[in-house]
Amino acid sequence: MNRRLFLGQSAALLGTTAGINKLALASSSNKAQVVVVGAGYGGATAAKYVRMLSNNSISVTLIEPNDNFISCPLSNLVVGGEEKIGALTTSYDGLTDKYGINMVKDMVSKIDTQKKTVTTAGGSTIAYDKLVLSPGINMYMDSIEGLAQANADGVTLQAWKAGPETVALHKQIADMPDGGVVALSIPLAPYRCPPGPYERTCQIANYLKNNKPKSKLVVFDSNANIVSKGGLFSKAWADLYEGYIDYRPDNKVVAVDGKTRTLKFEFSDDFKADVLNVIPTMGAGNIVVDTGLANMNNRWAEVDFLNFESTQAKDVHIVGDSIQVAPRMPKSGHMANQQAKVAAAAIVSELNDFPINPQPVVTNTCYSFVNDRDVVHVASVHQYDPTEKTFLPVKGAGGLSAEPNRIEGIYAWGWAKNIWNDTVG
Ligand SMILES: Cc1cc2nc3c(=O)[nH]c(=O)nc-3n(C[C@H](O)[C@H](O)[C@H](O)COP(=O)(O)OP(=O)(O)OC[C@H]3O[C@@H](n4cnc5c(N)ncnc54)[C@H](O)[C@@H]3O)c2cc1C
Repeated sequence: MNRRLFLGQSAALLGTTAGINKLALASSSNKAQVVVVGAGYGGATAAKYVRMLSNNSISVTLIEPNDNFISCPLSNLVVGGEEKIGALTTSYDGLTDKYGINMVKDMVSKIDTQKKTVTTAGGSTIAYDKLVLSPGINMYMDSIEGLAQANADGVTLQAWKAGPETVALHKQIADMPDGGVVALSIPLAPYRCPPGPYERTCQIANYLKNNKPKSKLVVFDSNANIVSKGGLFSKAWADLYEGYIDYRPDNKVVAVDGKTRTLKFEFSDDFKADVLNVIPTMGAGNIVVDTGLANMNNRWAEVDFLNFESTQAKDVHIVGDSIQVAPRMPKSGHMANQQAKVAAAAIVSELNDFPINPQPVVTNTCYSFVNDRDVVHVASVHQYDPTEKTFLPVKGAGGLSAEPNRIEGIYAWGWAKNIWNDTVG
């Protein structure tokens, strides 16, 4: 295939799997080894697309400690009791059986960017030609006094990584007596999933309204305003949950006393609640920080947006929530999936000495459920700008729902099933 054709086609397939076989590089002589760390939205997509775009000629090893892929998107429905975690869980079998990815169930504990090796907690050392890191986020438990202890004592939960904690948070709320109080605290942006805490607010309020009508939810937001879809969430809270939600912006939790279930603030009075969902500040996944790649305030990883290569280490590509994002680019699963496709196409091109796409485009859509079926969305399109050397939002593209509606509830499930299939299917 000629280079120009591959380039044009690889740009066009971002966001679709159609016609992959025709686009794939027929370079069976390429014995390159790509190692991917983390099989979430970014890592699993990167692993799969390197295999597909190289016509399976590049070996891919994907390292992940979890048995299955569990989606954070839609997990607020589990917190609110409208869905079961099983509905958000997909096996990794498709990645091994259909795409020939070598899955290693382990945790990467060390990366040597000079020797180009990764070492796992289980003691294996694996060499790479190209490394992709998508380890998600690390929550800074030490940023709130007493939080680590309250977590260890089983009093507080985050449920900001979907799985057993998501189920446990629902159970805490379900076990609370009617008349009880749930407190949700939101960290300062940037954090994983800008609309996520406000969707959670809706889902908890929906549960209380239907099951414990004497109860209420108090939301302590470190931010001055609702960070995403503000007008839509405020209206949904007023229309659907009057008397259930007490939203307090500019209220940053600084300490937790797990024994008395009390939150402490910079300026406001202490607050006691029955259920404490305390979400602390977050940064790049530990392995990114430990490898010295969190070169943006020791918090996020700076990348070259053309191929998502770390600005700190050659042949190490970082995607997903761990990166310092471009302007108005959210930390979302949809965005991690898109970034992974840009990175995968660039990696396959680079390993075959082809030029990379000089102007990639990525999209994002985030759906939020305001009750069990009505949904609002925010969408955006971001194009690489060669002058600014970053992605910039495309003017006039994207936008917001006019109001919560049922049809978008159907779209939201369609989005989820499609992206799960695209990522791990
Ligand atoms: C409540 C909630 C709702 C959300 N809703 C939406 C939504 O509606 N739409 C949307 O687009 N996004 C949503 N998101 C955001 C989305 O979940 C994240 O942006 C997305 O998961 C980021 O992908 P990632 O690959 O960076 O991280 P993840 O998907 O978290 O994947 C990281 C993986 O890396 C693994 N890992 C970490 N460290 C290592 C290591 N050292 N070695 C090996 N493996 C490692 C982890 O086990 C994990 O599987 C939501 C998030 C939350 C919390």
